[in-house]
Amino acid sequence: MVVGATVVVGGFYGDEGKGKVISYLATADNPDIIVRGGAGPNAGHTIRSNDTTYKVRMLPSGFLNPQSRIMIGPGVVVDPDVLRREIDEFGVAGRAFIDRQCGVIEPDHIQGDSGGYLKQQIGSTGSGTGTANSQRALRNLKMASQVEELEDVITDVPGSIHDAMSLGGHILVEGTQGTFLSLWHGTYPYVTSKDVTASAICADVGIGPTAVSDVILVVKSFVTRVGTGPLAGELDADETIRRGWSERGTVTGRVRRAAAFDYTLGRRAVLLNGATGLALTKLDVLYPECAGVRSYDALDEDAKVFVETVQERLGVPVSIIGTGPADRDIIDRRDAQQ
Ligand code: IMP
Ligand code: MG
Repeated sequence: MVVGATVVVGGFYGDEGKGKVISYLATADNPDIIVRGGAGPNAGHTIRSNDTTYKVRMLPSGFLNPQSRIMIGPGVVVDPDVLRREIDEFGVAGRAFIDRQCGVIEPDHIQGDSGGYLKQQIGSTGSGTGTANSQRALRNLKMASQVEELEDVITDVPGSIHDAMSLGGHILVEGTQGTFLSLWHGTYPYVTSKDVTASAICADVGIGPTAVSDVILVVKSFVTRVGTGPLAGELDADETIRRGWSERGTVTGRVRRAAAFDYTLGRRAVLLNGATGLALTKLDVLYPECAGVRSYDALDEDAKVFVETVQERLGVPVSIIGTGPADRDIIDRRDAQQ
């Protein structure tokens, strides 16, 4: 059984399928609290469950488990409008909370990264996240505790996590973006406004490294990147479509650039995050025979060779495999690997 917190982070440039993996773990592991760290509403996750597709930008992707409390850590900047909309849309009032020290995105911030340098050169999502974070660094940002309308959703997030853990409860920590969008470790300046590796995500929610038992690095079976910045081995648009790798951004709707699975990036992401296991998503896109398969043995040989190559070259086991868009299209090998 899991003792410390499980941290889930992205291994490439975001959009690796964290939302789906979190959504699955939220059901399979039944955490007391699912807590989101990361930058802000610039992140978008798509979750499919029982034929319904949910697009989430602010709340943790694990909201579908009605028994879990869902929280946003103090390191995250929150857009109150997006937050309210999602609490209503997903029917989670009463079990969704933010920390009093979350930063607050205001209309000026959204205007600030919806044009000019950030939009044009960096390809910002225009969500106000970067401008709000820059004001926070200048000690000039409003905190959630100063916004009266947020009063009913404010709680002490680190305190709640530590209380739950001391009673033996399980905590699932959700990262956003991906390792190479990190302000520290990514392809600067084509990065987001914070570090988003596992250590930073832990700091965002208020837990230390000793409270963590698993770091699951999510890597997709091919690499995509939305916005500007380097992408090694980038395919042209026709080839991307031909391979079935064409995707669109959840927040911005922009077409994502694509490349084949990058072992060098993956290996570096494992090291930067201290990954204990990998979640390899969208295997069915590379190997259509794998669609919906839920046991490792039922995968065809080519797919198994790919999975084994990934774990050999990255140096950690592939413990979760995504075989389709629904949250149940998963092969979970964690027990077998213990
Ligand atoms: P910003 O974080 O909105 O300023 O965007 C900075 C860069 O990070 C841009 O290239 C965005 O496309 C990218 N980015 C930010 N958040 C995400 C995400 O959740 N998924 C993928 N790319 C992202
Ligand atoms: Mg996304």
